[in-house]
Amino acid sequence: MEIEPAEEVKEPPRIHRLDEPVVNRIAAGEVIQRPVSAVKELVENSLDASSTSISVLVKDGGLKLIQVSDDGHGIRYEDLPILCERHTTSKLSKYEDLQSIKSMGFRGEALASMTYVGHVTVTTITRGQLHGYRVSYRDGVMENEPKACAAVKGTQIVIENLFYNMIARRKTLQNSADDYTKIVDLLSRFAIHHIDVSFSCRKHGAARADVHSVATPSRLNAIRSVYGLLVAQNLIKIEASDHDPSSSVFEMDGFISNSNYVAKKTTMVLFINDRLVECTALKRALEVVYVATLPKASKPFIYMSITLPPEHVDVNVHPTKREVSLLNQEVIVEKMQSVVESVLRNSNESRTFQEQTVEATPSVPSVTNNDLHLSPSPSGSKSQRVPVNKIVRTDSSDPAGRMHAYLYKNPQKYLGRDSSLTTVRSSVRQRRNLKETADLTSIQELINDIDSKCHSDLLDIVRQSTYVGMADDVFALLQHNTHLYLANVVNLRAGVKKASVETHSKIQLLGIFCSKELMYQQVLRRFAHFNAIQLSEPAPLQELIMLALKEEDLDLESNENDELKKKIAEMNTQLLKQKSEMLEEYFCIFIDSDGNLSRLPILLDQYTPDMDRVPEFVLCLGNDVLQMEWHGP
Ligand code: ADP
Ligand code: MG
Repeated sequence: MEIEPAEEVKEPPRIHRLDEPVVNRIAAGEVIQRPVSAVKELVENSLDASSTSISVLVKDGGLKLIQVSDDGHGIRYEDLPILCERHTTSKLSKYEDLQSIKSMGFRGEALASMTYVGHVTVTTITRGQLHGYRVSYRDGVMENEPKACAAVKGTQIVIENLFYNMIARRKTLQNSADDYTKIVDLLSRFAIHHIDVSFSCRKHGAARADVHSVATPSRLNAIRSVYGLLVAQNLIKIEASDHDPSSSVFEMDGFISNSNYVAKKTTMVLFINDRLVECTALKRALEVVYVATLPKASKPFIYMSITLPPEHVDVNVHPTKREVSLLNQEVIVEKMQSVVESVLRNSNESRTFQEQTVEATPSVPSVTNNDLHLSPSPSGSKSQRVPVNKIVRTDSSDPAGRMHAYLYKNPQKYLGRDSSLTTVRSSVRQRRNLKETADLTSIQELINDIDSKCHSDLLDIVRQSTYVGMADDVFALLQHNTHLYLANVVNLRAGVKKASVETHSKIQLLGIFCSKELMYQQVLRRFAHFNAIQLSEPAPLQELIMLALKEEDLDLESNENDELKKKIAEMNTQLLKQKSEMLEEYFCIFIDSDGNLSRLPILLDQYTPDMDRVPEFVLCLGNDVLQMEWHGP
């Protein structure tokens, strides 16, 4: 057995204070993590200074040089000595001011931080001065007295040799991709939000600017000049607001891409109270909406500006934390989702109509798009270049417009000759919802029950789908937007349940639609107001019931019970005859005094029930009425 060596007796290490510059450099490295974070701080300072023009010059991805020039109000001469000290700011004096702060800076940390990790030179002139001043800073303090110099209106801040004293940071940055693209991206975002400011961003030595925007009253113009025509022409305006303090208070406006905009990745430009931020939850939520509604254009371009009461946004987050935290975030995200969803649905519809009008189908109505200036122009636009058979998922060998045969089958039959599809739809909807129901509370309760269980997305899919054809005896193909759905037309309930479980993801909604459930709902809605099918010859109930009973017994091959069957048939017929008045009034089932069935209700227009199954139906009817007699409804 080995004896363990006696433990070395160790004194606890001494605790000592870090040198001030070390502390500051550590803090600065957190505030200014990369060149792009420095640019953001500088540009935000320029915006806070009410500039109308901001230009950025970058050398070596920002490591060699970042220069931001603006035409803002400038910095007072007497403030220059403390300009780059930590926690010096002109934007906040009391803690309470944080509640209502409108500026982008407030902590007075950005400029100070830059002086700990780079060489900062400020040139500035205030209004009414004959000349400006230039001064350099290092580690929070002026390196020299401000020197008088010639200057143009505003402030120019230059940062050289960023991270010169942070070897590891510099190395990682040098090895990774250049920050210049990030800086261009940042300026692009600012440019489409602050449309009253002109922005430019240029690489040192380059003749052309990579971002060049001029102040414009039109956001769409700004987007066009920064992101290009292809983006701008495929955008839809969105707006939403809520002023209900019990749920959420916000105002939102923006632009979102339509189904023609196809990109490799999502661009989400989000401003909350004019602050450029990121909100991953919102971005993901909107992507989900796109995947579900426009799967082919599932990587959207989104510009959104949200205004919230200042007290609902936690501004006191770390300056580099672009991720925001909001009060009522979930409610707001959900609201945005539904706004985007309905806008996309509508735009998708109007787009389809536009395509239809192009085709020479006289019966096809045209729907005017009141958003024409935003929608892609029909001539020469991208949508024209994509062949129609590639957009709509049908057999590409089908001639374009073939689907319309299903959509517009004899529209005159129902409505006037030049009725538009929307009228067809709304009238169908109206007919469905007509308060044609008898005023029976029991019926109304059942209808309410159905309506309350209704899954809105699924309803939308079913309502707005186009019937493509039967895939087999059970499944029908329906098209909704760019999705094809296999709908089980016999059995529905399972499908509805499945869909409601998936409400949250909203992807993969299986539109399933069933005759059983449909018939049931139709009966409730048409209760006491059915149209009738007249049987060519009245059919004796007793014989029908006999037929049904025999069919039931077929497998058993027992014919000895014929007597019993006759009895049952007789009883049921009597019963139905007794109830004929009620059956007639409520269900439009006509039974004459001789016990003959002469009329059946129409549950669904244009649908003729299978007459071979009338015996079965009558038998069931008899049994059900009998049960009601015994147990009550
Ligand atoms: P903050 O923006 O949080 O106040 P900064 O360190 O970014 O802190 O800036 C400190 C102060 O310097 C600002 O409050 C502002 O008064 C002044 N300042 C910075 N940049 C500019 C600029 N481009 N134009 C005018 N004033 C500026
Ligand atoms: Mg600032």
